[in-house]
Amino acid sequence: MTRHNIPLGRVLGIPIGIDYSWFLIFALLTWSFATSYFPAEFPRWAPALYWATGAATAILMFASVLLHELGHSVVALRYKIPVRSINLFIFGGVATIGAEPPSAVAELLIAVAGPFTSLVLAGLFWLAKPLAAGVPPLWGLFKYLAYINFVLVLFNLIPAYPLDGGRVFRAFVWGATRNMRRATVIAANVGRFFGFFFIFVGMWQVFAGNLGGLWTAFIGWFLESAATSQVQQAVVQDLIGGHTVAQAMGRSCAAVPAEMTLQQLVDDHVLGGGRRCFLVTRGPDTVGLMTLHRLREVPRSEWARTSAAQVMLPIDTLRSVGPQTGLWAALQEMDRDGVNQLPVVSDRRVVGMLAREDVITFLRTLQELGK
Ligand SMILES: [Zn+2]
Repeated sequence: MTRHNIPLGRVLGIPIGIDYSWFLIFALLTWSFATSYFPAEFPRWAPALYWATGAATAILMFASVLLHELGHSVVALRYKIPVRSINLFIFGGVATIGAEPPSAVAELLIAVAGPFTSLVLAGLFWLAKPLAAGVPPLWGLFKYLAYINFVLVLFNLIPAYPLDGGRVFRAFVWGATRNMRRATVIAANVGRFFGFFFIFVGMWQVFAGNLGGLWTAFIGWFLESAATSQVQQAVVQDLIGGHTVAQAMGRSCAAVPAEMTLQQLVDDHVLGGGRRCFLVTRGPDTVGLMTLHRLREVPRSEWARTSAAQVMLPIDTLRSVGPQTGLWAALQEMDRDGVNQLPVVSDRRVVGMLAREDVITFLRTLQELGK
C-alpha cells in the first residue's frame, strides 16, 4: 500500500485501505446528493436530513464498490492467487491481484465476479425498496443504490481493458489465441482506444457547456494510462520471458573487508574503480552489502572514522534471489519489496547483484540483438 493510504482493516485477510483522493470524491458526492439529487426527488425535507441521507448514500455507494472488489478477490483466492490489497480511491476501487490468472477461464471468472456482485446488490436494493415505503430517506437511498450498482454493471461491460469488460474480452482472446501476452496487448490497445474516446467525448461535452465532461475526460485519461502501462509491461515480459537472473546480473561488485573505512572505500573503489556496489566480507563470508545510497547517508566528515560494517545492509536482512530465478519473477520481487537491487545467492554465497539498471541494460541488449 502507498503512503497516501489510510488502512481500514482486513477482510478475508486482505488489507483494505482508503486513498486520500477518496475524501475529495466523497465530499463531492455528498454535496451533490444533498444539494441537488435528493432536493429534486424529495422536496421539503429539513436541510440536515438531505446532508445525512447524502452522506449515507455516498458511504453505501463505496461499500458497494468494496463488495464488488471483494467479489473479484474471492474468486482469485479460490484460484490461489494472492490479493495484496483493496484500495478505494477517487475513481472507485481497485483490488491488487498478486499474479496473472493461471488460465483464460480463471481470468473470465475473476473478471465476471465483480459485476455479478454489483448486479446482486442492485437486485437486493431494488427488492428492499418497498420495505422502506413509509420512510422516504431510506426509500430514496435504496432506489439510488439499486440504480448506481446497475450503472456499475453496465460501465464494466465496456470491453476496455483493464476494466472488467476488457478482462472478459482478454479472456476470450487468450482462449482463442492460447497466448496470454498477445491477448493482453490486443485488449490493452482496445482499452486505449476507449480511453481516447472518453477523453474526446468529455472535451466535446465541455465545449458544449457541460462541465461534467471533465469527469468523463478524466476517466478516459485514467483508462488510457492504465492500458498503456499494461502494454509496456507485456512488452517487457515478452522480452525477458525465459531469461534468468544469471544472464542479467552484475558480477562487478567489489568485495571489501568489513573493517575498511568509508574514506578508503571511496578513494580506492568508487573514485578509483568506478564501482557502485560492494560486498562486505569478513574472512571467507559475505556479511553485508554496501551501496552508494547507503554511503551518502553518512556525513563526509565521518567517512575516515566509520567502517563499512557499521553502515552496510546486513546480508541476512536482505531478500535474495537465485541465479536460475526467472528475470521477470525477480523484477516483481523488487516491486513488491520496493527495493532497487537484490543480491544473487547460490549455495549461501553471493555470486552477483541484480540492480534495476542491470535489467534495463539487459533489455537494451536484447532489443539490439532483435529478439
Ligand atoms: Zn471490477
